[in-house]
Amino acid sequence: MTKGHCLCGAIQFETSAQPQGPSLCHCSQCRRQSGHLWGSAYVPRAALRITGDVRWYDSSEQAQRGFCPTCGSFLFWHAHAEDTISFALGALDNPTGITLEKHIFTKDKGDYYAITDDVPQS
Ligand SMILES: [Zn+2]
Ligand SMILES: [Zn+2]
Repeated sequence: MTKGHCLCGAIQFETSAQPQGPSLCHCSQCRRQSGHLWGSAYVPRAALRITGDVRWYDSSEQAQRGFCPTCGSFLFWHAHAEDTISFALGALDNPTGITLEKHIFTKDKGDYYAITDDVPQS
């Protein structure tokens, strides 16, 4: 079971599905919303159980971003055309059993840091 929660604990989520595609996103939207990089993995939407009152923000016509309205934790990303949902790796309880597979949107990365690990980049 993979479990996580926001900083204040008002929003909890869990899944028994195997998290897919764990990544660190360097895009400007994720950096702005999270404060730096957003680490996430995804599961089928129906496989993620969420409790608590998530606030959803339409960051584009294609996708929405879910966060806790009390503490601001950025927890979820969902594209309308997909039946999956991404959740924040940083919100998970240890041990996660998850290993990062990729850096994504690295062409949009900030200029204030370097990527220094061997995880594949796209
Ligand atoms: Zn919260
Ligand atoms: Zn992103």
